[in-house]
Amino acid sequence: MPIHLHTPLVESDPFSHPGQRVWLKLEALQPSGSFKLRGVGHACEVHAARGARRLLSSSGGNAGLAVAYAGRRLGLPVLVVVPESTREWPKSLMRRQGAEVVVHGKSWMEANEHLTALRQPMDAFIHPFDDPLLWEGHASMIAEAATQGPRPDAVVLSVGGGGLMCGVLQGMHAVGWQDVPLVAVETLGAHSLNAAVDAGQLVTLEAITSVATSLGARRVCERAFEWTKQHEVIATTVTDDEAVRACLDIADEHRIVVEPACGAAVAAAVQRRVPALQGASNVLVILCGGVATTYGDLQALAAARQEEAI
Ligand SMILES: *Cc1c(COP(=O)(O)O)cnc(C)c1O
Repeated sequence: MPIHLHTPLVESDPFSHPGQRVWLKLEALQPSGSFKLRGVGHACEVHAARGARRLLSSSGGNAGLAVAYAGRRLGLPVLVVVPESTREWPKSLMRRQGAEVVVHGKSWMEANEHLTALRQPMDAFIHPFDDPLLWEGHASMIAEAATQGPRPDAVVLSVGGGGLMCGVLQGMHAVGWQDVPLVAVETLGAHSLNAAVDAGQLVTLEAITSVATSLGARRVCERAFEWTKQHEVIATTVTDDEAVRACLDIADEHRIVVEPACGAAVAAAVQRRVPALQGASNVLVILCGGVATTYGDLQALAAARQEEAI
């Protein structure tokens, strides 16, 4: 039995237009709250079968929570090391799954170094986005979507480190969607894929300034950048405001709370600024989810941004 769930594919009336149906793959409904459980669950199962005694993560977000959930399901202890900047809410969600959460260092880099120092020979480290095992697990959402709805004219998703993108493209090629354009969305301030595509090579951003913290990889994985040369990938950006606004719309219209990291993809799909979306009859949007923001957080973010504007 896989650790992730099969998720519904729903036709979104509120986000559709005459002549264009928008389909949402509801990855937000995974038990850990995001698509990460597909890839992480698969990777953890493989490592458990190879004899791993403990699972390690240095993510204070959805990847860490997915490892915590998978570890509990597999009966393996989980150690997560996060930096001091990690908020209380995700830490308590991971502890609730039985994970040991250690706080160390000012930045993710310091937390990750500490984790490396604690590593035992039979431990398996689960990377948040750069691992073929993860991509294989993420690909299952496309195999599923292909049996649930029409062949899309475009697929829209968010990009952080690019793991979701690698998995979805792998899945698209497996089901014969190799000619379907992929719209890869980032927020401004977390636009490491857009920067790489513009520069024609991998780029490391100076800093992450977006509120979409789950998109906050300063550099995308190499495989994600390679894909942009092997498939029609349209990299685009939205603002934090647009992403937050989309989250509130998703909450009102579909009664699902997601992070700005996920709202970004919906914002791009609904705005249709990308030409590939303008003639598309069926658009598949990956509603990737995320647990780091509560509904109250989203309202506060929207209010703060409005005040800034005034
Ligand atoms: C991890 C994550 C992303 C980005 O996925 P990558 O594989 O890092 O590109 C987007 N949205 C949510 C909610 C996430 O948890």
